[in-house]
Amino acid sequence: MRTKTNLPSALYIHIPFCESICDYCDFTKLQYFHSFAVKYLVALKKELIERVTNKELRTIYIGGGTPTSLDDLQFEALLKMVEPYSKHVEEYTVEANPESLSLSKIKLLKKYGVNRVSIGVESTNDQILKSINRKHTFSDVKNVVKNLRDNGINNINLDLIIGLPNVSFKMLEEDIRNILSLKPNHISCYSLTVHEHTVFYINKISEPDEEFAYQAYKVINELLEKNGYSHYEVSNWAISGQESKHNLVYWNNERYYGVGLGASGYIDNIRYKNSTNFNEYVSFKNEIEEEIVTLKDEKDYELMLKLRTKFGLNLVEYKNKFGVDLYKSHTQVIDDYVTKGYLIHKEDYLIPTFEGMMILDKIYLDLQ
Ligand code: SF4
Repeated sequence: MRTKTNLPSALYIHIPFCESICDYCDFTKLQYFHSFAVKYLVALKKELIERVTNKELRTIYIGGGTPTSLDDLQFEALLKMVEPYSKHVEEYTVEANPESLSLSKIKLLKKYGVNRVSIGVESTNDQILKSINRKHTFSDVKNVVKNLRDNGINNINLDLIIGLPNVSFKMLEEDIRNILSLKPNHISCYSLTVHEHTVFYINKISEPDEEFAYQAYKVINELLEKNGYSHYEVSNWAISGQESKHNLVYWNNERYYGVGLGASGYIDNIRYKNSTNFNEYVSFKNEIEEEIVTLKDEKDYELMLKLRTKFGLNLVEYKNKFGVDLYKSHTQVIDDYVTKGYLIHKEDYLIPTFEGMMILDKIYLDLQ
């Protein structure tokens, strides 16, 4: 029987509103209306107070949707609501879209101790941005980055999407050079996925095939590594020491609170997901889905998640936790992956290389 784990020290808060809906988006989101947001913040506060019993948090991440789609008063109410939990945080991130991260909101971020901002750039080509229904230009991104720095918020992540329609490798390289010109601390590049019920799906836009995605990641990785960024997770690069502390909680298979519409969390041995139905959520009828995580599930999560990062899987810790000597039970498989350059077996660690990160599903299956 497992003993209860410590309380989570990471908190994710979901703000589902957006100023407009992007053609590819499958996140839990809805169009911003002032009255909707008023109701939402009431329900969110209730859940926050009931759910988050640990006020000694290390990381907070407010994501969405678009948190900055709230008006200034609502945005401040949100940050005020989170204030009792943010006293000891090391990393406090808010996601933002360039068009709605006004100077007044930046000043509020600073006032309430937010020290990291993640900006949805997606492309640096204004025509491409327009074609996917994004409302900003690359010039907006430059202004926002400058305003953040001028106001003392220096830890900045910029997000890009790989495989958008009509984006050639040449344009992708240009995107990366444009992003590099802004010298962010952290860069995320996610490969486009096309989900049902999105405009992309209806318009029969296809996802990039595996070969395109692999070549794109290769180009990006070479350019970023040349410029001092380390590929520390499948889709994430950072200047050394600037990796996302909050996201590492997920990849380290640690516990976290998730609060808000459709948010997921992991407390004790339960992974849960809140209702994605807005009316239910704001009427305090949050139907929560729960998955009880058995020891076997936790072992699988540990393997799957820790092999995503350059910090790798500690084989001794794994053995102490689950009673399995992974190297002993899979010597041939591991040695093969090492010989072929997909894994590094160094001291007690199993670490994926760039090539390994590109075929993680296969490695994971072979290590079952
Ligand atoms: S801004 Fe983000 S969350 Fe909102 S619709 Fe676009 S991709 Fe989705």
